[in-house]
Amino acid sequence: MSALTKTLGSVLEKTLMAPAQVTAVTALGGFRLIELRGEGLKKSGWTPGDKLRVKTGDLELRTYTPLLWDDKKGLAHLVAWLPGRGPGSAWAAAVKPGESFFFKGPKESLKLSKAGEGPVVFFGDETAVGAAAALRRLRPLDKDLRFVFELDDPDEAHVALIALGLPDAARVAKSEDGSHLKAVRKQIQAWAGESQGNAYVFLVGNQESVKTLKSKLSDKLPDAKIKAKVYWREGKAGLD
Ligand SMILES: Cc1cc2nc3c(=O)[nH]c(=O)nc-3n(C[C@H](O)[C@H](O)[C@H](O)COP(=O)(O)OP(=O)(O)OC[C@H]3O[C@@H](n4cnc5c(N)ncnc54)[C@H](O)[C@@H]3O)c2cc1C
Repeated sequence: MSALTKTLGSVLEKTLMAPAQVTAVTALGGFRLIELRGEGLKKSGWTPGDKLRVKTGDLELRTYTPLLWDDKKGLAHLVAWLPGRGPGSAWAAAVKPGESFFFKGPKESLKLSKAGEGPVVFFGDETAVGAAAALRRLRPLDKDLRFVFELDDPDEAHVALIALGLPDAARVAKSEDGSHLKAVRKQIQAWAGESQGNAYVFLVGNQESVKTLKSKLSDKLPDAKIKAKVYWREGKAGLD
């Protein structure tokens, strides 16, 4: 079985994937900022919000959202959250500069540029920090771009948020019963309300939070454009 898995894994690498190298890893609290380089990263057509799949085992793939991708240099940066419980977190925690890996992508996932020039509110959790940083890079100093995160450890995550250009993001501690989402919703409504509710709202990360916020905000902000994308779900491994 494991010989077959290995063979299938190597077929996958040769047919659908490209190699790249990790050239730098920066520890940012519970996150790792990982720099990738490779010929396969050139001429990719990546746009902010697109995803990349990393081969973390023979037949295991995990999905990430690069915050930066330079098609000419063949360079991409992604930020991975470590305290997950599967091969993605294990790969990101252990990977070192000089190591090679296979990847697939980029592929469209969240069209961040669709928000255009108007007011934007972005909600996410630790897994959405890369997507948020990609959005911030589109409009670096724009005060009409606001971020709110639900986090296991808001103080620890602040280190990563500062390093990734998101120092002013609102940080709300996650509660077991989801009651913190009321404060998150109020924050999103307050910001969107400043533009007569006519904002672009991204909801990204944990399925439960995304679903709850989407249903409440669709009522409260009928004029907002709400784009939701689930990055993980309790009990389900390797969502794409
Ligand atoms: C489109 C897309 C883009 C993504 N972009 C990023 C990114 O840029 N950075 C990033 O870090 N992750 C990102 N993710 C999530 C990432 O792919 C992994 O799922 C996640 O990091 C956990 O991987 P894992 O292998 O450790 O756990 P998995 O093997 O996927 O899951 C194992 C178990 O851990 C639990 N679990 C999974 N994720 C979490 C979590 N965040 N918190 C608590 N429990 C969890 C689940 O209940 C699951 O049963 C993205 C996902 C998608 C679908």
